[in-house]
Amino acid sequence: ESYLLKVDSLRTAFTVNGDFHDAVADVSFTIKPKQVLGVVGESGCGKSVMALSIMQLLPKDIKTKMHGDILFNDADLSKHTDKQMNAIRGKDISMIFQEPMTSLNPVFTIGSQVQEVLLNHEGLTKAEARLRSIALLRDVGISRPDKIIYDYPHQLSGGMRQRVMIAMAIACKPKLLIADEPTTALDVTVQAQILELIQGIQEENNMAVLMITHDLGVVAEICHEVIVMYAGKIVETANVVELFRRPKHPYTKLLMSAIPKMDEEQEVLATIEGVVPSIDQMPSVGCRFVNRCPQAMKECAEITPELASHDNDHFVRCLLYKESYPKGDDFAHVSQ
Ligand code: SF4
Ligand code: MG
Repeated sequence: ESYLLKVDSLRTAFTVNGDFHDAVADVSFTIKPKQVLGVVGESGCGKSVMALSIMQLLPKDIKTKMHGDILFNDADLSKHTDKQMNAIRGKDISMIFQEPMTSLNPVFTIGSQVQEVLLNHEGLTKAEARLRSIALLRDVGISRPDKIIYDYPHQLSGGMRQRVMIAMAIACKPKLLIADEPTTALDVTVQAQILELIQGIQEENNMAVLMITHDLGVVAEICHEVIVMYAGKIVETANVVELFRRPKHPYTKLLMSAIPKMDEEQEVLATIEGVVPSIDQMPSVGCRFVNRCPQAMKECAEITPELASHDNDHFVRCLLYKESYPKGDDFAHVSQ
């Protein structure tokens, strides 16, 4: 089957007090061309680390270790040099983040920053780049782009800055956009506009999107397939309709109960009790969700659940479902 990105057995570890601990543990998935794949989970579940691993942008000031293959158009990004990655980032794969203020340079004008992407990758003249950047800013819904290009990032609202980031991200028509909580810092109305913008661009440019979010509401809006992550592992994956109809993992069910209801006066966000264990506190055996799971059983602390297929291409990592698997299927085993 054809894929654009294939992540195979990705494991990313950081050092805490001198020892390596997995922030991402054995994550595998594929994205097909034009597909919108959601990765959902609370902060601390390894979503951003996974995205940075794909982009080869792990922090350099701490010790990290990465294993596994990251195949993009059949080339293994994990074996690329910095120079090779620089040619790919912003051109074939772009990334946008939660807070555009940190990725926009405060001392350069909006216009010069959008133009720089074009000058780096597209071989345009300055005059051409200027015209293209104005067109791009118009494409992302900025109404006076010929004026905005002379503004500095702090002169724009959060929503406008995110539009600028999106303009930069799509300047070279990438095949894959990685969006890490792109709407989290914005108010609800602007969130909806930005999601709509990303969706429109995705369809128009036939671009694949890896949408990272803590909000299943965002997933419901724009994703085709969904991965639910907890404590560095995939705990459930299915297409979006199947996931919302028949959520299986107790963590997914809790995330669903925490979706803010837009029609309620006050936005009441049911939070899930407890926190994701930090990477050096992760249990080595058993289910990583055990201390927060309302359905935890005795064996959950002793047997490590595997990600196994259920039906309709629906995969779950939970001992509650082990009875429904065919006999002889090595679903659960004691971790080494
Ligand atoms: Fe809960 Fe046990 Fe399933 Fe983990 S394996 S999610 S603790 S029921
Ligand atoms: Mg994050």
